[in-house]
Amino acid sequence: MPGESIAYFEGQFMPLKAAKISIVDPAVTKSDIVFDVVSATGRTFFRLDDHLDRFETSCRSIRIKLPVGRDELKRISAECIDRSGYEDACVFMCGTRGQYRGGVALGDPRDCENGFYVYAVPYYWVVPRDKAESGAHLWIAETRRAPDEAINQKAKNFNRMDLTKATFEALDHGADAAVLLSMQGQLSEGAGFNIWIVRGKTLLTPGENLLEGITRRTVFDLARDLGLETKATNLPPEALLEAPEAFLSTTAGGIIPVTRVNDRPLGNGAPGLQTSAIRQRYWEKRRAGWHGTTVNSLLKH
Ligand code: PLP
Repeated sequence: MPGESIAYFEGQFMPLKAAKISIVDPAVTKSDIVFDVVSATGRTFFRLDDHLDRFETSCRSIRIKLPVGRDELKRISAECIDRSGYEDACVFMCGTRGQYRGGVALGDPRDCENGFYVYAVPYYWVVPRDKAESGAHLWIAETRRAPDEAINQKAKNFNRMDLTKATFEALDHGADAAVLLSMQGQLSEGAGFNIWIVRGKTLLTPGENLLEGITRRTVFDLARDLGLETKATNLPPEALLEAPEAFLSTTAGGIIPVTRVNDRPLGNGAPGLQTSAIRQRYWEKRRAGWHGTTVNSLLKH
């Protein structure tokens, strides 16, 4: 994609490559940071206010006070895309603890001056792009998702050692992505996506120990449109292995069919009918401007 990724960092727009943070910053040494990722296609953000609601909630949950208001965050996000020159982009917004007083390696987190940065990258997919259409191969990982009692997964965070370890498991087995179980052995989510199972006219998704995806919320809305039932509930791994259809929901790719789980094809091994209908409706509605905010409407003229 033509263009160059642009960041807003320490009060200035700059090439992403120029934005650098200290090796003693708590974001690096303690993952003391929360973030959100919103997509824009055709220079139109999707559900921007919903992402900002979640971002602000994530910040509050770890006692980060953003030094910037919502309108300013929107304008900066729009400007990152505009300056990058991307038609289709994902914008990361990160709320940081900020350095310990005196820029030293350890300190009192209450004394830090909280900060933020934003950057735009080309739109991306959580699985290889061709698989986002033809169907992804999922691996049910041995690694468990860190429980909410330890790390509140409703806050979008960078404590991702569990997700990364599980991703290695998946890749080592030739799969595209891993899905993790909770400590109770129920399906939770994967690195960058929520999971759905289709049973007849009902869509089932795990209800606990996960990030409540904005795309997940969108699936609830689309299902209503399509006359499908939905339910967030506990689901054992067998529910996925035996499902006739399954899909992922994610900002990075939308609705992604799952066609293989562990060593076997899922259903008939092709993207499912309901999955395809939801996927089609998702992109049609986005293209028609549903929940859209144009980049141009946010830029200062
Ligand atoms: N779960 C995790 C751990 C994620 O990181 C993400 C998104 O990045 C999701 C689920 C899906 O959320 P959304 O639909 O808001 O992209």
